[in-house]
Amino acid sequence: MKIYNSLSKKVENFEPISPPEVGMYACGPTVYYYPTIGNYRTYTTADLLLRTLRYLGHEVNYVMNLTDVGHLTGDNLGDADTGEDRLEKAAREEGKTAWDIAKFYSEDFLQSFEKLNLIKPDTVAAATEHIQEQIDLIKKLETNGLTYKIDDGIYFNVKVYEEKGHEYGQLSTLDKIKEGARVEPNPQKRDPRDFALWKFSPKNDKRHMEWDSPWGKGFPGWHIECSAMSMKYLGEQFDIHVGGEDLRSTHHPNEIAQSEGATGKEPFVKYWVHGAFLTVDGGRMGKSLGNAYSLHDIKEKGYDPLDLRYFYLSGHYRKQLNFTWDALAAAKTALTKLRTQVTSYKATHERTVLSSEKNEKVRKFQDEFKAALENDLNMPQALAVVWEVVKSNIPDYDKYDLLLGFDEVLGLGLGEFQISNLKFKITKEVQALLNKREELRSEGKFAQADAIRDKLKKEHNYEARDKSL
Ligand code: AMP
Ligand code: ZN
Repeated sequence: MKIYNSLSKKVENFEPISPPEVGMYACGPTVYYYPTIGNYRTYTTADLLLRTLRYLGHEVNYVMNLTDVGHLTGDNLGDADTGEDRLEKAAREEGKTAWDIAKFYSEDFLQSFEKLNLIKPDTVAAATEHIQEQIDLIKKLETNGLTYKIDDGIYFNVKVYEEKGHEYGQLSTLDKIKEGARVEPNPQKRDPRDFALWKFSPKNDKRHMEWDSPWGKGFPGWHIECSAMSMKYLGEQFDIHVGGEDLRSTHHPNEIAQSEGATGKEPFVKYWVHGAFLTVDGGRMGKSLGNAYSLHDIKEKGYDPLDLRYFYLSGHYRKQLNFTWDALAAAKTALTKLRTQVTSYKATHERTVLSSEKNEKVRKFQDEFKAALENDLNMPQALAVVWEVVKSNIPDYDKYDLLLGFDEVLGLGLGEFQISNLKFKITKEVQALLNKREELRSEGKFAQADAIRDKLKKEHNYEARDKSL
């Protein structure tokens, strides 16, 4: 397959380091609040890549971290080593401990996998459970002469790293680094690009989360956890690293510097895959703007998280996608229509012998779907193939088979959606009522739509398992 690699800034042929195995790492969330639908866009991109690679026959080992310590608020202003620890701040605001905060939001995040049909990583690694690995990695960097100590912590020395022949910051898109947005640099830092590996606990203050280390009591810097945990589970060099585009200019270059600086092996990761951001109503999403919607907000407004998944599929992962409630409603209508079709194929048709012309069509659809995936994960193109299948004249049983096969990648739960009585035959009359009901719902005429639902139940003994339908 072809995939865009931020390292070469080109679309490349994907060739694993040791086929058929593929090591894939995704930067997980900072578990200080409910992850947003922006975060979930990036995790869905990772999920689609994972499913595609498995669909194409690769054996993927998928690892994700949970940032449950040490991610300071300053990175909004361009310096991840300043400001407050996000978890400790949330703990203070919610009157809990940082440990409680991490546990609560980690659980919420992990529960979302089922809701959004995201395949669980083979390993989910919490930063707080890998403190020793992070300390060991910093010790290696220290031995290699790549660290120095200042008042507030141990820092990575980018100049020395470059003097040793490494290149720093290959992934950055320079136009995206806004110098003006940066906070006042720490005057003790030898180079503005240097970053904290270990931060000391404040002298007169006890943190909820702090550990002993060879350099003193404190906590790890944000970037070191990803180097330590990805290398622990995937080896010193592995295939794919995924994250949102905001991680491209600092967090990921720092991961590369730490890993290659410690092992001397290049490249640390062969393919860097970055997902573009989700915007809301055409602008930035932010907690303070009141539009940092979570999956709970989506459900509260009457949507199934899979409607959101369908919405994500409608955009290419390297293009910004703009969320509006109208766009989500349109996604829901489309998904409902698709589910209704798939269900009717299942309920009404027996397998038939195909003519060679129809057989050829089935193969053509399969090839087109695969080609869309192999074309830098082009999900809008893949969805177009889905609708071509629906509109085609191949037998319903084969439509059913094809669409369920595609759903291994799409993850829209098409096979799970059933009519309560499987022997139930959808008559033309029932189908017409279902279509009418869908039309009314998309026009917002919910009372009339509900009346049809009741009629279906009373007069036709028809009931969808998903009560929202
Ligand atoms: P964080 O919890 O901030 O560390 O973010 C977790 C993941 O979500 C990272 O891969 C981010 O790049 C990604 N992310 C954050 N905001 C957005 C957004 N608006 N759209 C897409 N991805 C995002
Ligand atoms: Zn990371």
